Amino acid sequence: MAKASAKIEICGIVQGVGFRPFVHKRAEEFSLSGKVLNTSSGVSLILEGEKTDIDGFLDGFRDAAPSLALIEDISITLSDTVWGYNGFEISESAEALKRRTLISPDIATCDDCLRELFARDGRRRHFPFINCTNCGPRFTIIRDIPYDRKNTTMESFSMCDACNAEYVDIADRRYHAEPTCCDACGPRLFFLDRNGDELAGDAIKLCESALLRGEIVAIKGLGGVHLACLAEDAALARTLRTRKGRDEKPFAIMCRDLKTAHRFAEISAEEEKLLTSAARPIVLLKKKNRRDFSHISENGYIGIMLPYTPVHHMLFSGGISSLIMTSANISELPIIYKDEEIVKNLGGIADGYLLNNRDIHLPCDDSLVWERGGREYFVRRSRGYVPYPITVKEKLSPILACGAEQKATFALSRENHVFLSQHMGDLKNLETLENFEEQISHFEKIFDISPRAIVSDLHPDYLSTQYAAKRADAPAIPHIRVWHHHAHMASCMADNSLSGKCIGIVWDGVGLSPDGDACGCEFIVGDYKTAHRAGTMLSIPLPGGDRATREVFRTGISLLLAAGVAPTDFFGEESDSVTRLLSSGINCTPASGMGRLFDGVAAILGIKRNVSYEGQAAMLLEAAADESVTQTYPFEIKRENDRYFFDWRKMIRAISEDVRCKTPTEEISAAFMNTLVAFACDMTKLISDDTKLCRVVLSGGSFQNMYILKRLSDALSENGFEVYTHRRTSTNDEGLALGQIMIANEGGGNYVSCNTARNSGN
Ligand code: ZN
Ligand code: ZN
Ligand code: FE
Repeated sequence: MAKASAKIEICGIVQGVGFRPFVHKRAEEFSLSGKVLNTSSGVSLILEGEKTDIDGFLDGFRDAAPSLALIEDISITLSDTVWGYNGFEISESAEALKRRTLISPDIATCDDCLRELFARDGRRRHFPFINCTNCGPRFTIIRDIPYDRKNTTMESFSMCDACNAEYVDIADRRYHAEPTCCDACGPRLFFLDRNGDELAGDAIKLCESALLRGEIVAIKGLGGVHLACLAEDAALARTLRTRKGRDEKPFAIMCRDLKTAHRFAEISAEEEKLLTSAARPIVLLKKKNRRDFSHISENGYIGIMLPYTPVHHMLFSGGISSLIMTSANISELPIIYKDEEIVKNLGGIADGYLLNNRDIHLPCDDSLVWERGGREYFVRRSRGYVPYPITVKEKLSPILACGAEQKATFALSRENHVFLSQHMGDLKNLETLENFEEQISHFEKIFDISPRAIVSDLHPDYLSTQYAAKRADAPAIPHIRVWHHHAHMASCMADNSLSGKCIGIVWDGVGLSPDGDACGCEFIVGDYKTAHRAGTMLSIPLPGGDRATREVFRTGISLLLAAGVAPTDFFGEESDSVTRLLSSGINCTPASGMGRLFDGVAAILGIKRNVSYEGQAAMLLEAAADESVTQTYPFEIKRENDRYFFDWRKMIRAISEDVRCKTPTEEISAAFMNTLVAFACDMTKLISDDTKLCRVVLSGGSFQNMYILKRLSDALSENGFEVYTHRRTSTNDEGLALGQIMIANEGGGNYVSCNTARNSGN
């Protein structure tokens, strides 16, 4: 038998996830000697032994790897040289090298831990902080790197002898599990009444009975605090909305198990897989009947998640089967996660508090996804996913991208990785900005990145742009300004590993174009470096400016007037003052966002006159649509210079006729969205005829609309286009920073026409 050796380099998330013990065990199984050590990009191992044993080791290696490991690349060099290792060893890594490793997200309690949690005996029976190498908190407890217990918020809990024995035992599931602990040495759970006084007794039992009594309880979790109450009590949900000041925005619920979840929604096998995945996101699921559970969600979908911490599992082990679980942040303010803030800020909202003394170092919301093609389609990419990097083909210089304003995120790049942050809410005030800055320095520290350039949006008023300008000043580094919609497009390209020229269809609420106008219905021809505005829509004067984004009937009136229809039939006398405002032209900034078109049409249909949160009108309009309708309305595509315009006036006239004839809203909403699909398809064909491009990327917040996403993708594919949508990042502004990095890295941004527009005062 021939002796041989293999040198294997593995890149990805392979540290702090039980990878080395796994390699050790597998080497012993195949009687191989050698060693494994951590490197800057992952782990490196040397195997020595019979050639057939090395083959056996490698066969099925990827599939056998620990569940938390993310193997990005394996390179294997086989040779006949043998060094004569005596057995298999784990070499300790140098601290400096460890700085370069990747950090795992927080992961739902694994099956092994669950079994221990509810076993008849054992030292972790009913221990609410049970975790192991395969599960538990990571990202939210890390204060610094290397990832060792002393650098986490578990530092203050010193391991007892029994825990330590497991921690150093390579054969144990808790080998090098940094947050490992038990009842004797770990954090403590406690229950406070509404005054913040601790109650004696079993905290879980106290919390459970408070919930069953119909109280609202604040529950501290992995990356923040939830407000929880029984899900099926509509009056209770109303109380929660009133106390929290959250008028109409849908809540998410947590269900005991899949069986309970099926009572609330239709769930496919693929959706079940996402619900039970290690990331345990909130999955947006179709209700059986649109009008069911309207106290939880007013539209056709309901967001459901399953328990993901030991505390959740214990809470659901008695008489509770479903809970509304909404993050406890006060609207407009950053997520609440520091203990001292919880009781102070939630007074008057929570009737009780289930807290613990393990600090959350980094706040991180629940992730929110749809299922699409068997995988996540992100609305919010957060817990369970952040900070896994987005891997790209390009080699990236160290860049900091500051995102936009809504759903603020930032990104840092290193080599072929982009570390995209969790979103931090809308960057509109000092509190969120401070939080944003803190998170940036934390990411720079834990990923060991000193940016050599900084990117922001073009919009001068965004706090993120102002932050970028300030940061770029001292020490002086380049500040690159990137067009909002170009960044969306580049983000979707990078998400799909595309390079070269594509057609981008970018639809959202609003962004500032290089021409200086507010837009959000963009057809772009470009790559990472260049962006040509090939198409857009006729803009809509917004009477009262920003006010029209809340009082959407104003936009409805504006659309009708532009289409030559008298608005009084639809909006009564209220329309008079808006009509006067529009004819004066004062404070009627024109905007061309797809979001505004949805607002206006929803208002004309009588679905919503005023909205209480971003995207509400579009969501209700989507929910109303009858999916069997195939009809479209007339529209025109016009060309001016080298740009196409979608002229929606004929469509609005036809819609207003239908409303007058009392055509059901279900049919009009569907026909309206079908028209958008039809015009987008036609405009793409025209642009493709001009440019000979056939790859189309779809990005922007409007593609959270599943009706449009699905139909437009299908229509484009049927016309021979290659269609790409987001897969690893959100389609909304949360994913923007990835695109900003790609553009800055290739020398794009800082558009000439933008400067021209600014200088000429447009
Ligand atoms: Zn576990
Ligand atoms: Zn212990
Ligand atoms: Fe956007």
